[in-house]
Amino acid sequence: MPTTFRVPYITAWSGEFMEHPLGFAWADEAAGLRLAYSDPQPQDWMFGVLWARQGLAACGRPEWKLVNTFRQRRCMLHRLCQVCGASAVDQLTGRTWWVLADEPHESSETAGYTNAPPTCLPCIPGALTACPRLRRGAAVYTVGDIEPYGVVADLFTPTRAGEAIHVQRSVTVTFEEFRRLEKALAKQLLVVLDDVVPFPGVPTVPGRGLSSPNADPSEGRGAERASLLSLNT
Ligand SMILES: [Zn+2]
Repeated sequence: MPTTFRVPYITAWSGEFMEHPLGFAWADEAAGLRLAYSDPQPQDWMFGVLWARQGLAACGRPEWKLVNTFRQRRCMLHRLCQVCGASAVDQLTGRTWWVLADEPHESSETAGYTNAPPTCLPCIPGALTACPRLRRGAAVYTVGDIEPYGVVADLFTPTRAGEAIHVQRSVTVTFEEFRRLEKALAKQLLVVLDDVVPFPGVPTVPGRGLSSPNADPSEGRGAERASLLSLNT
């Protein structure tokens, strides 16, 4: 029996990848050379870093292990569900639903920020069942606020001629590392989760924007920071 599986909102599609030449060019704001496309556009940069260009057509075949850069960033900034793309904000409490994988090997340096966008209440049970990584261990939280922290990026170095040589793949660059940001091509936004409250069990209320009667938004508020969920990049 064939089964149907919904392609998550943030998943990249083969028809969305674009080849745009990169190089290093002088930038007054950087007071030096900065990574740029050969046809730079103002919207290429956000938070002081160049972002990977990608289409939004969702055509071709789903690249299950890859994330669409624009949709991932949009989910983080607007608190949209990574599965369906709708708002993950609980309309009653104003808090955001978030599912995070347990990371037994995480270090203290990595705790507290994540590249995994939120998951809306109706999508949580399905996400916990369908995602192999979440099946191995995950917990549900509500989050009061987020703060952009950095990016997952590829790093480049310039040649004398201003060409860009690819030197590192999928590394974390924080928004305080100004010199590294100028050599980075951002692929995912990392955010710090603030005011993180564990939700006991799995919420079962089917309607969007409804809180479980078991949820107490004030319980344990601010006492924990969520663990890192690393998606493949
Ligand atoms: Zn959803």
